[in-house]
Amino acid sequence: MALKRASAEAALNPLETALAQFDAAAERLRLDDGMRGILRAAKRELSVHFPVQMDDGSTRMFSGYRVQHNLARGPAKGGIRYHPAVTLDEVRALAMWMTWKSAVVNIPYGGAKGGVVVDPRSLSVTELENLTRRYATEISIVIGSNEDIPAPDMGTDGRVMAWIMDTISMHRGHTVAGVVTGKPVSIGGTLGRLEATGRGILFVIGEVARQHKIQVEGATVAVQGFGNVGSVAAILLAKEGAKVIAVSDSTGGVYNQQGLDMGTLSKRGWPGGRLDTAPGGDRISNEELLSLPVDFLVPAAMEGQIGAANAAGVRARFVVEGANGPVTPEADAVLAGNGITVVPDILANAGGVIVSYFEWVQDLQFFFWEEDEVNERLKRVIGRAYRDVARTAQEENVSMREAAMLLAVGRVVEATRVRGIYP
Ligand code: NAD
Repeated sequence: MALKRASAEAALNPLETALAQFDAAAERLRLDDGMRGILRAAKRELSVHFPVQMDDGSTRMFSGYRVQHNLARGPAKGGIRYHPAVTLDEVRALAMWMTWKSAVVNIPYGGAKGGVVVDPRSLSVTELENLTRRYATEISIVIGSNEDIPAPDMGTDGRVMAWIMDTISMHRGHTVAGVVTGKPVSIGGTLGRLEATGRGILFVIGEVARQHKIQVEGATVAVQGFGNVGSVAAILLAKEGAKVIAVSDSTGGVYNQQGLDMGTLSKRGWPGGRLDTAPGGDRISNEELLSLPVDFLVPAAMEGQIGAANAAGVRARFVVEGANGPVTPEADAVLAGNGITVVPDILANAGGVIVSYFEWVQDLQFFFWEEDEVNERLKRVIGRAYRDVARTAQEENVSMREAAMLLAVGRVVEATRVRGIYP
């Protein structure tokens, strides 16, 4: 009963979840209280409250945050979220998850996250630009290409990154391309960034197939969410010969046991372009999609989609988390009990942060790569991370999620120990 209540509360506060996940890894790694204390706390938390001039001449106050969880392995890295429900605790949790995500794929970054409490759809373009430039100015005391490098997250995009990059560049008196990633290619963005997370999922599925001696060609796949992550993953998997039998968006989905035609679906040429009216298959609800008997289920929509209520119905062989947190801790236990392997989000969807790292490296060197080189390096980095996690899972006899955390926390602990406590 107490456990049930604790997990229900954790679902309400992402920081509780993040800390519980860390505590479990810390226990297994037998970390002492001093090290636990260091890694449980965010290193820096900046709260800002700032005015924005609205189109009607009025002034409105907004609140925002930038949290740097840990800098032991390199500059802080993490997105900026514009959402009306952003809270400091949520940003703290997301910053901590970024520390682990960077560490598990072994790129030299710490973790950070930012947010502004705003519904960006309620603002005009001018208001959005004013808000972004003022927020960038407020957090300019902690961000920079050597310090902390933001990127897009929910509610922000390449255009917002361009405004932040320009604002910081104006303040410093020269172009600082490396202060944000996810920028348009014309101002120092990288080729391959838009597809990076979906492409990373393709490479991860390739690794799963190799490890379990199955073929991607002919494997059946269902993808929930047909946005930046899900659509790219589905299209690339189909190109590799996988049979993508169902895809969905927030309106519902389309299903065809023979495999859907990704060429047609990706163009969204039919009236409305919604997947619940897509051609080439039968209607399917999101709930039904999640319980299809497939080799690979890729939840790539949003958090909490596979929970205690529907986990027992999941009949996939592998669940590859495209979204952040699509499987709840309760569901994790049910899936494990049913012999379903979950490839955790911090590994499976790390393609975005890996290619962000490549963007930053290119910006620092003023030397830009061909797209093939970006994709090839992504394959190498995420492939190595997958094999590290799979090996740890076998050696420690734990799930891939636990293994990813052990590896990530272990790397941050090692960096902290080697650097020592100052002074
Ligand atoms: P997106 O907005 O481009 O696409 C989201 C898709 O999910 C849309 O097709 C939307 O219709 C669908 N969707 C929304 N609610 C749904 C629901 N209840 N049921 C079914 N479908 C629903 O977003 P995205 O960039 O593809 O991100 C998806 C997830 O992946 C998020 O959890 C995000 O945090 C995570 N993620 C994204 C990236 C990235 O590089 N874009 C990187 C890492 C993690």
